[in-house]
Amino acid sequence: MTLPIADQWFQATKVDADTTLIIEPHIHVLEQANMWLVEGSERDMILDTGMGVIPFRPYLDSLRKDPGKEIMCVSSHTHIDHIGAVHEFDIRLVHPAEADEMAHPSGLNSLFRRDMPERLLQTFLDAGYPPIGETLIEALPYEGYDPENYRLHGAPATGLLSHGDHVDLGNHVYQVLHLPGHSPGGIGLFEEKTGILFAADAIYDGPLIYEGPGMSVDDYRATFDLLKSLPATTIHGGHDPSFDRARMLEIIAHYEALWDAA
Ligand SMILES: [Zn+2]
Repeated sequence: MTLPIADQWFQATKVDADTTLIIEPHIHVLEQANMWLVEGSERDMILDTGMGVIPFRPYLDSLRKDPGKEIMCVSSHTHIDHIGAVHEFDIRLVHPAEADEMAHPSGLNSLFRRDMPERLLQTFLDAGYPPIGETLIEALPYEGYDPENYRLHGAPATGLLSHGDHVDLGNHVYQVLHLPGHSPGGIGLFEEKTGILFAADAIYDGPLIYEGPGMSVDDYRATFDLLKSLPATTIHGGHDPSFDRARMLEIIAHYEALWDAA
């Protein structure tokens, strides 16, 4: 296997005064998750931490105005592409339904296609993702990196986030929404004063995944009902570019029609 060497493993885009989107561009698009840094007046938050191919914290701290400030690591859910660096943070928050999974990840724990169940691969193809090569990485983070040594570490939660709780950064306060369907303990974060919703994998502008372990179309329908009732105007998803309310309603209608026809 010959993979090119990446110039930079992470890529950051400033979204607004306090918000930065970070991705790992050399991960296959299927597992290329959005990581959201919000720098608050009292403390910072990182929502999701990618695959954990290389240490994330040094890069993240290099982006922060005050790397010495307290930072809360919030996991929207515990799939491999969202909890890669949880062990690099002192404050680790997750929904109770996925706390065990974050402490001891039991799902996919490899960069190799050969370790992914055939049924799962078929689900991704059916959903509309391009086929995966030999590995989930399409470049090496540095010369000599051995993908065989990849491990998802996980780490126990230091606190739990349930529906109705708040994540308080000082000048930004987010309401925690329980959004199951894609995973049992999936959460979103909604900021009332700006209408910004961090929806994670409950809704993004790409193929949604709703068939697999821990997934439920019935729960997904209830999650969509909740999202429709929410006055969200800007939606930052767990994958793919951000979108507005009109697009959110379009995506929801597409999947509801798909499920109704099944
Ligand atoms: Zn996911």
